[in-house]
Amino acid sequence: MATFKAIRIEKAEKGQSVALVDFDEKDLMDGDVTVNVAWSTVNYKDGLALTGKAPVVRRFPMIPGIDLAGTVEASSNPAWRPGDQIILNGFGLGETHLGGYAEKARVKGDWLVALPSSMSGRDAMAIGTAGYTAMLAILALEHHGVTPDHGPVVVTGAAGGLGSVAVAVLAKLGYRVIASTGRPQEAGYLRDLGASDIIERAELSGTPRPLGRERWAGGIDTVGSTTLANVLSMTSYGGAVAACGLAGGMDLPTSVAPFILRGVCLLGIDSVMCSLERRRTAWNRLASDLDRGKLAAMTSEVGLGQVQDLGSAILEGRVRGRIVVKIG
Ligand code: NDP
Repeated sequence: MATFKAIRIEKAEKGQSVALVDFDEKDLMDGDVTVNVAWSTVNYKDGLALTGKAPVVRRFPMIPGIDLAGTVEASSNPAWRPGDQIILNGFGLGETHLGGYAEKARVKGDWLVALPSSMSGRDAMAIGTAGYTAMLAILALEHHGVTPDHGPVVVTGAAGGLGSVAVAVLAKLGYRVIASTGRPQEAGYLRDLGASDIIERAELSGTPRPLGRERWAGGIDTVGSTTLANVLSMTSYGGAVAACGLAGGMDLPTSVAPFILRGVCLLGIDSVMCSLERRRTAWNRLASDLDRGKLAAMTSEVGLGQVQDLGSAILEGRVRGRIVVKIG
């Protein structure tokens, strides 16, 4: 019997149980590519899955982990051969399909992206879904025409994973970045990533006015709720805000004023079912536009056995930057 190490979530009488186990290879789900997983990561959604705080896991038992990087071991998909280095983000990994917190995964070849040649698997997972989503948001702002000469861009939840990557990439691209954080002690960290100004989270969490002072040309929001509403109300004429997350809540108590009086656009960002073409663009842009020194500065490393303890930490906003998980 061939087994490999994996984190497994089981339904329990009360909630769920999470354990590091020897997983039987014959219990892997269908797929045309088998991957030896080398690296994974911890995102906010992984925190939801590990703690059971939201119904992210749709089948039990589940191996959580919405991201993985590794080497193709076997493939009946013509696009992939043994030895190929790949990245997988989303497509239900760790939600409906057995995920990345395991030494082995069997997945659909159609979900995979080739690891950019200048990037290591560890770097790819230091970026992970959080960082790749930050790049999707930046691509959306660029597509809307928000360029550095239009004015600053605000990033909320800036000291988190998505926020940290967004700050670093935007700064490298020449934007003036305003970083909003609830952790003023991280101001130095955020300035080192490239933020020009740091504002207190509380400045954006009060009751939003329909229109506020025009403060930025664009925004990348990871928080949702009143924070996103305030960001919209302070976006200058013709600007755009990319809505990525819900760390502060799923509601959006805004008015139509920013849209109909300032022509502001709200850009929805989804990483899970995003097209392969867009994924490739995002990963190639990350390879060129994210400074590796800054990526290293925002990344800490853990082993598979430590992942379970990090679920609550990330949901409580206690994780700075990104966590990479060494598998195997
Ligand atoms: P992190 O936990 O690393 O970052 C979230 C940050 O939000 C925290 O670090 C904190 O930043 C801030 N924050 C946390 N709680 C609150 C609160 N109650 N009110 C205001 N701010 C808060 O998570 P990720 O970077 O992995 O993900 C960020 C968000 O983006 C999550 O909601 C996640 O679900 C979403 N997401 C969405 C994706 C998509 O496809 N659309 C893909 C990836 C992520 P600080 O301390 O600096 O204030």
